Amino acid sequence: MGKSFDVIVIGVGAMGSSACFQLARRGVRVLGLEQFDIPHALGSSHGQSRMIRLAYYEHPDYVPLLKRAYQLWDELESISGQKLLYRTGGVYIGPIDGEVVGGSLHAAREHKLAHELLDHAELGRRFPQFTVPEPWVAVWEPEAGFLTPENVIAAYAEAALRGGAELHGREMVTSWEADAGGVTVRTTRDEYRADKLIFCGGPWTSKLVADLGVRLVVTRQVWGWVWPKKPEFFELGRLPVWAIDHLDGTLHYGFPLLKDVPGFKIGHHGPGRETDPERVARDPQAGDEETFRPVLKNMIPAADGALLSMKVCTYTNSPDHHFIIDRHPIHERVTLACGFSGHGFKFASVVGEVLADLAMEGRTRLPAQFLGLGRFWGV
Ligand SMILES: Cc1cc2nc3c(=O)[nH]c(=O)nc-3n(C[C@H](O)[C@H](O)[C@H](O)COP(=O)(O)OP(=O)(O)OC[C@H]3O[C@@H](n4cnc5c(N)ncnc54)[C@H](O)[C@@H]3O)c2cc1C
Repeated sequence: MGKSFDVIVIGVGAMGSSACFQLARRGVRVLGLEQFDIPHALGSSHGQSRMIRLAYYEHPDYVPLLKRAYQLWDELESISGQKLLYRTGGVYIGPIDGEVVGGSLHAAREHKLAHELLDHAELGRRFPQFTVPEPWVAVWEPEAGFLTPENVIAAYAEAALRGGAELHGREMVTSWEADAGGVTVRTTRDEYRADKLIFCGGPWTSKLVADLGVRLVVTRQVWGWVWPKKPEFFELGRLPVWAIDHLDGTLHYGFPLLKDVPGFKIGHHGPGRETDPERVARDPQAGDEETFRPVLKNMIPAADGALLSMKVCTYTNSPDHHFIIDRHPIHERVTLACGFSGHGFKFASVVGEVLADLAMEGRTRLPAQFLGLGRFWGV
């Protein structure tokens, strides 16, 4: 039997690295177990950039959590001495009554967030990169931007280690059990005991937690990087983060040109093909480019240049596409965060804080109750 801890965190990706940091800063003896490297490109948290927005079209209830997330991102930047959050502003384009524009306006008005509604002519003047149908408008939000995910995980992991956490990479959890006195976790290297357990397994959650009672669907998602015909339109400082609503529950989104991967990055937000994290085709496949090329041609023609790169990532979709952050329905020593449904990264800073609260105090003062499991069985 290996060492014992107050808390074991399974998965040191976006949510797990943040939880390890939050626990370590409270003086909790924490062990973080990661099956791959810290960070790595085989889960849900790689690929250069993740969008962060405040005027949350998905539901206004996320806004208070986002306000705390922004504070914690600023804090992580000062702890690590690294730039992690780029405030580029964000432009969300679509029909006035569509989910993206309508939902963003609703959240911005309800929470009195800085924003502007751009009519079609103003959208064309301010953002000539986009050619969209005549009646479409846009919401402009100055606080939006992007995070650099690999750097964030590295920064949280290092801050956790410096705060006294123990983190093990390349050590896969193979089984666990909870009993009246604590939890036992077996790995490919050892066996550990702890008082509490936190699952942050991303796309592997269903494999790790079989009795969750909710079906999580893992899907394969693709990004492309292209070299724009007019690169000057897409530079960092000129182009904000952006999203275009397609009125079918999906959107395209993207980022300005960055140095580490050349080109203009574009992705399609909407569940891709169902897959399994063990078997997902990580190399680009026939048809992948077609998930974004027509939008470049039709709506962002100045970016419609040669393909440079494509990468594959996985979403873990909950039944209602809202996150699941809660105690385990059967084991009270176990807390979990999963089902981030392709929009969770921006919350990782605050999710770590919520998880530390739930594990150590049994509850949180942060307004995360709407993300509990009870909603699936009407509690
Ligand atoms: C294409 C794409 C675009 C996205 N765009 C955005 C965006 O713009 N903005 C945004 O906010 N969000 C976005 N997201 C969503 C966001 O990236 C995810 O919600 C978030 O990264 C999930 O973090 P996680 O910690 O749950 O998963 P991960 O970071 O994948 O971490 C899970 C970890 O658990 C480890 N693990 C699993 N099983 C075991 C085991 N048995 N033993 C040890 N370790 C284990 C894994 O190896 C992994 O490191 C996007 C996601 C994708 C795929």
